[in-house]
Amino acid sequence: MTAEQYRTTRPGLLGAANVGQTVQVAGWVQTRRDHGGIVFVDLRDATGVLQIVLDPDAGTAPEEVLSGLRREFVISVTGEVASRGEEHVNPDLATGEIELVATELRVLSPSDPLPFQLDDRVDVDEGLRLQYRYLDLRRPAMAANLQARSTAIRAMRRVLDAQGFLEVETPTLVASTPEGARDVLVPSRLRQGHFYALPQSPQLFKQLLMISGVDRYYQIARCYRDEDFRADRQIEFTQLDLEGSFWGQDDVLEVLEEIAVAVTKDLRGIELARPFPRLTWQEAMDRFGTDKPDTRFGMEIQDLSDLFGSTEFKAFAGVLADGGTVRGINAGAQGLSRAGLDKLVEQALSLGARGLVWMVVEDDGSLRSPVAKFLSDAEQAGISEALAAAPGDLLLVVADRFSVVSKVLGALRIDMGQPEGHDEITFLMVTDFPMFEVGDDGSLAPMHHPFTSPEDVTEMVESPGSAASRAYDIVLNGAELGSGSVRIHNPDVQAKVFEVLGITAEDATRRFGWFMDALRYGTPPHAGFAYGIDRMVSILQDLPNIREVIPFPKTQTGNDPLTGSPSRVEDEQLGELGITVAADVVAGWAEEDA
Ligand code: ASP
Repeated sequence: MTAEQYRTTRPGLLGAANVGQTVQVAGWVQTRRDHGGIVFVDLRDATGVLQIVLDPDAGTAPEEVLSGLRREFVISVTGEVASRGEEHVNPDLATGEIELVATELRVLSPSDPLPFQLDDRVDVDEGLRLQYRYLDLRRPAMAANLQARSTAIRAMRRVLDAQGFLEVETPTLVASTPEGARDVLVPSRLRQGHFYALPQSPQLFKQLLMISGVDRYYQIARCYRDEDFRADRQIEFTQLDLEGSFWGQDDVLEVLEEIAVAVTKDLRGIELARPFPRLTWQEAMDRFGTDKPDTRFGMEIQDLSDLFGSTEFKAFAGVLADGGTVRGINAGAQGLSRAGLDKLVEQALSLGARGLVWMVVEDDGSLRSPVAKFLSDAEQAGISEALAAAPGDLLLVVADRFSVVSKVLGALRIDMGQPEGHDEITFLMVTDFPMFEVGDDGSLAPMHHPFTSPEDVTEMVESPGSAASRAYDIVLNGAELGSGSVRIHNPDVQAKVFEVLGITAEDATRRFGWFMDALRYGTPPHAGFAYGIDRMVSILQDLPNIREVIPFPKTQTGNDPLTGSPSRVEDEQLGELGITVAADVVAGWAEEDA
């Protein structure tokens, strides 16, 4: 046996069929137990765990080597596969029927004592896990997450490769593009004072590829958005980005479904029914108060406005006179105390509502509520009927602008209705998004991005606030998995969109002239989409936090405790870039260092 012969098979591949065979395995010491002189080691590698039996009298290795074995030492062991005998079978272990009786053991690498136990059951501070991510990734659950990510990407590639998609890389040092987030900037050394942006997505490059004659494109693309961190957001994240020429919305949705079906099948073994439900944006907002509805439970929003056409209740009458709406949900039997109800009201106020009306249905069907005295019998009966009220139910009603009512009831619905721990998987498509989001000050921002085709150009110009676009989303269990749209392929329409957005022609030319020019050279109609891979895998793995499926993520505050990024750099390096750090920032470092 040469020194470089480490293994002939893998620990997790062995079973009863191998009993009697002599094999060599290598891996990490997961645990070590001493039983009256005999040492039992659980040896782990990516395939699984195998029990090794070491008899100090068998001459497997010098005594000090055996007694010095510690957790996470890397060893190579030769021995004979033996049956454990019925009474010693470990049903929790895939290799639980057998063990390896060692005849030779070599330590390939020792390990320092660990900063935390690599046991899935041990709760470890996330900062520490990220600082020692290479150890954290040895934990079986984390190894399974890495595997799941790879499995998902493989399924995506399989679907797209079978359909003749071309995988194309696009640059990561680009010009800033307007996709709604803050750019991550990279200073140029050769042109001091100039900056690259890291792409928020490959959006314009994939459109250029359509103009280049690439028929179907995809890329597993890293994207960068300098936004505030949340559990499901990172400064850099990965998308499955795709685009196709001579494509309309249905062509894209068809491929997206195939991808979702393949990934779900490979990760969860579940065959999803097709086609996925489709809701228009308006329907999603009306019924669920959000553009990413969780339809795994009911509790749908009902429009009650018609009940209050001639109401005496001033709060409702005022809202309706101003063009607002009165809507409610039946939250079911929540059994909340007065304090619990007050908390709900506070929550509604913090979401921007002017108030929240709660009503509890009494045994005789009457409504107990602080506002009951302002509502006529007919109005109360109408509410009960519209919300299918039964004794014990809690009814929640909000009167306000449509956007506020939707936001508040949508959030309360999720809080009160989302069942815990069920493993139903519900994909759905939301279509017909509005073209623009209207700010409180009347300003317009693209709902998707400014390269999205309006449904009707005249409508977009004449009434942009209510104009529809040709954008669509995919939603999984109440989370947005990705967005896409049919694109603008006519340069005049593109110019109009910029104009409606208040971007002057000079500004548009300065920032996107290169792209507007490209559109003039025979642009095929095209459409596309981007799936958020981190989010998709984390939801399918039943993990609330995308960091669990990202090999080396940043913390909530954007740091990497492993490598220490972001970090300060030498003055010399800054000098080459023509950059000086502001004096007050430098002054702040003293505090940071203290
Ligand atoms: N570039 C878009 C995004 O990242 C997706 C698309 O429209 O294809 O959201």
